[in-house]
Amino acid sequence: MYVNLGTIQAADNEAELAGVMAHEISHVVQRHGTRAASKQMAAQLPLAILGGFMGRGALAQMAAQGISFGVGSYFLKNSRQAEREADLLGTDIMYDTGFDPRAMAEFFTKLQRQGGGGARGPQFLSDHPDPGNRAEAVSREVSTLPRKSNYRGDSPEFREIKQRVSAMSPLTAQQIAALKKPGGISAAGVSESDVSPSGSMRSFNHSDFQISYPENWQVFGDRNSSVTIAPRSGVSQNAVAYGVMINDFQPEDPQASLDQAMHDLVASLRQSNPDLRQIGYDENIRINGVAGKSVDLIGTSPLQDQDGRATQERDWLVATRRRDRSLLYLVFIAPDKDFGSLRPTFEQMLRSLQLR
Ligand SMILES: [Zn+2]
Repeated sequence: MYVNLGTIQAADNEAELAGVMAHEISHVVQRHGTRAASKQMAAQLPLAILGGFMGRGALAQMAAQGISFGVGSYFLKNSRQAEREADLLGTDIMYDTGFDPRAMAEFFTKLQRQGGGGARGPQFLSDHPDPGNRAEAVSREVSTLPRKSNYRGDSPEFREIKQRVSAMSPLTAQQIAALKKPGGISAAGVSESDVSPSGSMRSFNHSDFQISYPENWQVFGDRNSSVTIAPRSGVSQNAVAYGVMINDFQPEDPQASLDQAMHDLVASLRQSNPDLRQIGYDENIRINGVAGKSVDLIGTSPLQDQDGRATQERDWLVATRRRDRSLLYLVFIAPDKDFGSLRPTFEQMLRSLQLR
């Protein structure tokens, strides 16, 4: 979790700052973002959370570029229902850590009253729509917990940090928006030896599946998150030019047939990537004996050619049903010109896939 400068400046006490963090982490724990994450978002998410995986350099770079505006900004806008859930869990986290949970609701109310509370406010409020009666809902939850007579006050560290940031100026909403634009990947920055799969494979164990991947590629994400497996130079903070993204998808109707669920999935991917087009029909396939669906798509690659022009991307989407009836789906991605040479690797990866 990254904490934005403006948030620290807006917090009048440590409990308010803890409140925002408790609320944000509740969105993560309850998987509000990944439930509806688009292709691009899904790629961002593990990168954002596991920046550390890429080493200090990349992490520092992300921080320097300001890619650190609270987890909420990496997610699609939260629904009001998600807000209620995050407030409820946030209340419990606050209580358990000794802070007064009411400070969480107060902070939100304060931002709203101030019409945004500085640069971060409008963005924050648009990512976290007011579910209504926030303070009341928090008080109601607190009343179900054993009564506590004294909550934690401000630590000396909090006061010191408040003082240190008081003279700094946070980025404006416009600057934040500019930084969030999908970043292109320059063809010049992609190393052939990095993208070209090494002959040997290694195995990744996710809590939901196991898959093999080329030894010289990397896993972005962890065993409980959505995952991108890609050559290091084939991804940016915002996009994947080469590699595979693995995620799950909840169809609207849990009783939907695999056919229908696949249509919903394609429609949802297209909604977040409007230039994505399906070519041909979806096909029935079997993945290690399990029924699945396969479809080819084309879109725009984040890879830019030498002249900075966009290039065409080929995406191979494969999905299969998990035990809870959600879909596990994989999007194998490469610029159109390179897809053919990577296809055997993608197929080998798919053949190795085993659901748990
Ligand atoms: Zn929220």
